[in-house]
Amino acid sequence: MIPSEVQPVTAYIALGANLGDARGTVRQAVQDLGTLPQTRLVRSSSLYRTAPIDSSGPDYINAVAEVATGLSPQALLSELQRLEHAAGRERPYRNAPRTLDLDILLYDDIMLDSTTLTIPHPRMAERAFVLLPLAEIAPHLPCAQKLAAVHGQAIERLLED
Ligand code: ADP
Ligand code: MG
Repeated sequence: MIPSEVQPVTAYIALGANLGDARGTVRQAVQDLGTLPQTRLVRSSSLYRTAPIDSSGPDYINAVAEVATGLSPQALLSELQRLEHAAGRERPYRNAPRTLDLDILLYDDIMLDSTTLTIPHPRMAERAFVLLPLAEIAPHLPCAQKLAAVHGQAIERLLED
């Protein structure tokens, strides 16, 4: 629920998983975004399957979701980390395979660079698994138009089963 006095902003969240039931985890996490305080799920992309980049293990399942939220960027990050934790996320080493990864891609049009949070997400423009699902749900965004630069990365849109 968004209290009426809070003016919600649009944020885009990248979801990724490559351990366990990755499809089920990503689908559930999309729904869970809509249950966060002061937050509503606006739309979400199809699921995509991608080979690991800078990582290892099975293929990834990726998606991007748009939310309207009254949470601050830092509060939103804390809530996302709580969902990651609930999904069994462990961080044994950098870029390790993961049960669930939730990253803030964009938050309104803010630019932020603190020790815990960088927005826009610094690596989003290099990653087909972010740009393709983002372009599916937000084709108007300039960053979504950088798709040409990631042409050639193996990515497959999954049909719903
Ligand atoms: P990855 O970079 O592969 O997503 P993690 O999910 O383990 O790795 O995140 C590492 C740290 O990145 C988090 O603890 C968080 O503080 C920081 N971080 C910086 N910017 C962002 C962002 N835009 N979204 C999510 N996490 C971010
Ligand atoms: Mg992350």
